[in-house]
Amino acid sequence: MRSLEIKPHGLMFHHFYNEKHCRGQGAISIGQFEAVLTHYEKHILSAEEWFNRAVSNSLKDHDICLTFDDALLCQYEVALPVLERYGLTAFWFVYSSVLDGGLEKLEIYRKFRTVCYACIDDFYLDFFSRVKASAYNDAVELALKGYAHDNWKYCPFYSPNDTKFRYIRDVALGVDKYQELMDRMICEQGIDLASFASDLWMTKEHVRSLCARGHVIGLHSHTHPTVLADLPATEQQKEYGQNYRFLRDLLGKSPEVVSHPCNSYNVETLKILAALGIRLGFRANMADHQYSRFEFAREDHANVIRRIGQ
Ligand SMILES: [Zn+2]
Repeated sequence: MRSLEIKPHGLMFHHFYNEKHCRGQGAISIGQFEAVLTHYEKHILSAEEWFNRAVSNSLKDHDICLTFDDALLCQYEVALPVLERYGLTAFWFVYSSVLDGGLEKLEIYRKFRTVCYACIDDFYLDFFSRVKASAYNDAVELALKGYAHDNWKYCPFYSPNDTKFRYIRDVALGVDKYQELMDRMICEQGIDLASFASDLWMTKEHVRSLCARGHVIGLHSHTHPTVLADLPATEQQKEYGQNYRFLRDLLGKSPEVVSHPCNSYNVETLKILAALGIRLGFRANMADHQYSRFEFAREDHANVIRRIGQ
């Protein structure tokens, strides 16, 4: 973990909570958000300024930008009014399927884990026991031999159960089997998905309004696959092509920035982004490797909050 080193980077925000938006794992309050803004205040650039300095290679070591991933309604309703009070603008990375009536399971599952269990470990215990009782148990047991909590050292806020769950989800089960198990759990609780999901995402109008207020809107794939790099290049092309066209048509201008969903990308992804005319991209950690213009570092808000003691 080398998050204290100094280099220009983004701060990466996801969930916010208040009376309306539930306090899920990693969600922060208005007070915590303001503490972060105050902590970095003199180093935070407007999104446009950060973009201009990045593409002209003139970012300074301490230059910080603010970034919001996943088009979440809680960001618009909780964080945006604070940004406006501070006179700040940010990058907003939008996966477009949810603006087009799609219900992506990533967020639905997150809300399910949050509101349907007393605590996250209760969910994990239930989920692990479902896996054990399923036809996939032998394969999962075998795959778990390759699991090591230490591989998540860039996310020190993850507990061993957090990383074991993510390993089972992404490596041992894979998308289809994972979704089959989760959908069965949700179905058993009699949840109506449309109303359950109604407070999760922004609408097209929200995104248009952000753009009109000087914020910078960027790509984040169309459906937010958890491991985009595992997809063949043609599927990656579809994800980013659709995302690009959707945002261009919605905003009347071509997107020029991207953040990689779940930090997943490979050489093919970067070629696709270059061909779309994308000029700048963000990953989702502070790892210190040689980065391209598509791999600017970002620090997760959970790390920042832990460090400044909020
Ligand atoms: Zn995302």
